[in-house]
This record gives sequence, C-alpha cells and structure tokens, in this order.
Amino acid sequence: MNFCPNCGSKLYEKTINDSLVKSCNTCEYIDWNNWVYVSCVIAAFTDDNEVLLVRLKGKEQGKLTFPGGYRDLGETLDQAAHREFYEETGMVVHNLELYKTFTKDEQRLIWIVYKGKVQKSEFVENKEVFEAIYIRNIKDIDCNDLRGKLTKALLIDLLS
Ligand SMILES: [Zn+2]
Repeated sequence: MNFCPNCGSKLYEKTINDSLVKSCNTCEYIDWNNWVYVSCVIAAFTDDNEVLLVRLKGKEQGKLTFPGGYRDLGETLDQAAHREFYEETGMVVHNLELYKTFTKDEQRLIWIVYKGKVQKSEFVENKEVFEAIYIRNIKDIDCNDLRGKLTKALLIDLLS
C-alpha cells in the first residue's frame, strides 16, 4: 500500500525491529506488510462419517476440494462458512464448530476450518461446482484430483 488508510498521506519505507514496513509520518500508522486473505472452509460430515467434497468447474475443472471461500467484509466467519457452503452445494450445514487453521504464506492465505454436519440431500449445481461427493477413506479418490496441498493435508488429517 502506498497511502495511509487512516489519513491518506503518503507512506514511507522504514525499518522497525528488523522488518521493512511502511509508515505514515502524519498519523504514525504502520503498514506491517502482513495482511492475509481469510478463507472459511467446511468439513461437513454425514451421519455415516463421510465427508463432503466438491468437484470444481472453471479453471480448476475436475479438482476436488472442500466447500469454502473468502469471507466478505462485514460477515462473521460463521456466516461466511454457512454462505459459502450453501452457494457451492445448495445444502445447509449444521452444528458448525471451529476445528483448526492452516496458513499458506506464499498465497497470503489462512484457512479457518470448520467441522459441521450435513444430511445427504439434493446437490444443486452452480457456477463453481459440478458435483458433490462423499468419501470415507482417502483411498476412495485419486489424490491427483485434489486441488492443492492444503486440501490434501486437511483430508488426511480428518480421515486418519
Ligand atoms: Zn496517516
């Protein structure tokens, strides 16, 4: 960022505690250059202990991952989780509980992972997702289909 979000003055580079930061000479605002995107991710389980994954459309066509997405400003993390789950599956997740977090600095990304309960019901196809599948064992799928490292790490964590 080049201008102060507080007062609009130009920001200047400065070293504080060995970190290169940008600071405002007018109001002393400091940009620590540590911002991250927050994504809410839902591990939704059926009563039979299967977990729901979504198969993506678009530029990651065919890849499997957990439903989830970025929190919008003004939303609570719980609200973002419920909204994203509904948008990507057409289904409602219940009993959301904060489970754990994952950090991926190379994408400036933090995953806030919730566990929840889902009843198998009609999946509603949408612009992001082609299908929802339920798996009990990681052997049920081809791991090359998983979207990325975090998806795989979380799946192994949940099913082992
Ligand atoms: Zn300022």
